[in-house]
Amino acid sequence: MTTRIIILPCEGVKREFVAKVQLWANEVLEKKGPLAAPAFISINIWKRMGELQSFYQQEKQELGIATGEETDFLATHEAWRGHPRIHICQERVKDVPAVVIQGVLHHEISHALHHGTPEFYTFRYSTKLQEAGRICGLDLALLQQCVYLLSVALKDYDVVTWLTDIGLGVGQLRLLEYMISDTEDERRIWEVVCANPAPRKLALALFLKTILPIEALVSLSVEKAEIIKNQWKEAYRWLSATIQEWLFLFAHNTMSCRDKPFQKRLENMTFKLISEASL
Ligand SMILES: [Zn+2]
Repeated sequence: MTTRIIILPCEGVKREFVAKVQLWANEVLEKKGPLAAPAFISINIWKRMGELQSFYQQEKQELGIATGEETDFLATHEAWRGHPRIHICQERVKDVPAVVIQGVLHHEISHALHHGTPEFYTFRYSTKLQEAGRICGLDLALLQQCVYLLSVALKDYDVVTWLTDIGLGVGQLRLLEYMISDTEDERRIWEVVCANPAPRKLALALFLKTILPIEALVSLSVEKAEIIKNQWKEAYRWLSATIQEWLFLFAHNTMSCRDKPFQKRLENMTFKLISEASL
């Protein structure tokens, strides 16, 4: 099935920017093959961050949605109105290199193609998982956050793997390189939580968002992926070597279960992270 892209630029958005967004979105669609995909994807291009923020606020209020702040990301996707929508803001990406924005567009289009159904946004908390959570100090609210962070990492792993399979892995390499170029916020978070077992698990789940896709690129032999892996180790040098090793091993184990359904992989991943006593 062909997927149509509908671009909705705000007033004042530069025409050249709109043309590039269209081009980068098409690069993915042209290569997607016979994948079952939504009939259309809309891309909202916002001029200023304020506009994007008030849109999100209004939609959440109207639809009763309670999720965190999305405006930190370079681009976002959701399907609150029944079809995938991507949001990108010209002001937010004005100092970001074009190759990185291209990687972001590829990434978000892939999410829209693969993760548009409720299966990827709802999760059943088994008794076994809740019990394991309680043992390490995670109540249901913290466990939910942990599952959310791991689901983001797992979805990103799937997206990067798929994009590499269709020949667009290099853009993801650029995007990951950009993402790990500044880890100051994460370092600060780690400093605050590392002595506290429960939030410490959440921080580790957060770090997997870049490790899993990097390991995907390495295992698929994308050129320069090993270099990015070393850059990651350097960027996160404030994590001990033991923790770094464990995180990469964890990523490896997760990858070996690629054929299992998403929910099962997510549950296994969560269980392993929270029940690992040495972390
Ligand atoms: Zn993503």
